[in-house]
Amino acid sequence: MSEFALIARLQQLFAAHAESCKHKPVLGIGDDAAVLAIPAGQHLLVTTDTLVSGVHFSADDKPSDIAAKALAVNLSDLAAMGAEPAWFFLAISLPGQDLAWWDDFTAGLLEMAASGAIQLAGGDTTHGPLSVTITAMGITEQGKALRRDGARPGDRVVVSGQPGLAAFALQQKLADHEAPPDALKALLRPQPRLALGRELRNLASACVDVSDGLAADLGHILKASGCGAELLLEKLPTPAALADLETEARWKLQLSGGDDYELCFTLPPEHLPLLPEIERRAGVALHVIGTVVSGGGLKLQQRDGQEFRLDSSGYEHFSASSGNA
Ligand code: ADP
Ligand code: MG
Repeated sequence: MSEFALIARLQQLFAAHAESCKHKPVLGIGDDAAVLAIPAGQHLLVTTDTLVSGVHFSADDKPSDIAAKALAVNLSDLAAMGAEPAWFFLAISLPGQDLAWWDDFTAGLLEMAASGAIQLAGGDTTHGPLSVTITAMGITEQGKALRRDGARPGDRVVVSGQPGLAAFALQQKLADHEAPPDALKALLRPQPRLALGRELRNLASACVDVSDGLAADLGHILKASGCGAELLLEKLPTPAALADLETEARWKLQLSGGDDYELCFTLPPEHLPLLPEIERRAGVALHVIGTVVSGGGLKLQQRDGQEFRLDSSGYEHFSASSGNA
């Protein structure tokens, strides 16, 4: 089986899905480059993420989970910008040509592509250590992308879903314990918050997706916006899977654990009454956890007014503790 046979199989699998997508490429898989038409009055948003075996997943993880997550993390970036997904590219390096592995991988990829209504428009297939790079493209009305630099003092800080679940599953996995099913699902099959991102256009002042940890990712908004924030930690939701943890251990997971792919955004206070309607339309719970303030830094407050100190705010590649220095 050659590289071309793998590509042909993939293309065939995606054919019906391609028909159902709104933004068809002028020219997709099969030529030296794809040709894409950006609708008039729209901006193109482009993001890319790599998942490497042994760093982001284990080689024996289900291929369909690896594929779905590789696309989900890119869709999550588009969601955070309020973009409508349009096209994606898959650059994959494979150690061998295991057809059963490839079929499971491509099935997981198709499942996530269908849920995000995004079309595969090209890629690259090479022989080497297992690694998956996806580049995803989306569109927004000109000037309407949700950026990191628009937060203002007085805005509320809001987070979606149940931050901490994915980090808890990873912690359990690394300790050879069985993780609760909903935590494992959050780790292996994160759901990009595309509907929420769409709802936040014209409302949120800044937005980021939580990939490296809530404190670190909110920190990116604060730095880009030149503001600080005060969080009330008791406002963080307590997922059932984390209910037995000591409060401080739970906060630590929720603030510095990565891989949630929830959205954290800032909302001008006049839009607060819209939150229940946004929740309903986006199909995800929203939690107001704090307020943007002037001056820099992130203050984490406990119920008694005492400050909570985090020793590390999120995952960083090349840091001493990530083992990738
Ligand atoms: P070239 O050598 O000109 O880069 P390739 O042989 O790599 O062309 O690819 C042939 C066609 O198949 C191109 O249109 C490319 O985008 C597509 N393709 C290759 N690998 C993948 C992949 N993993 N996923 C989707 N499309 C792919
Ligand atoms: Mg090529």
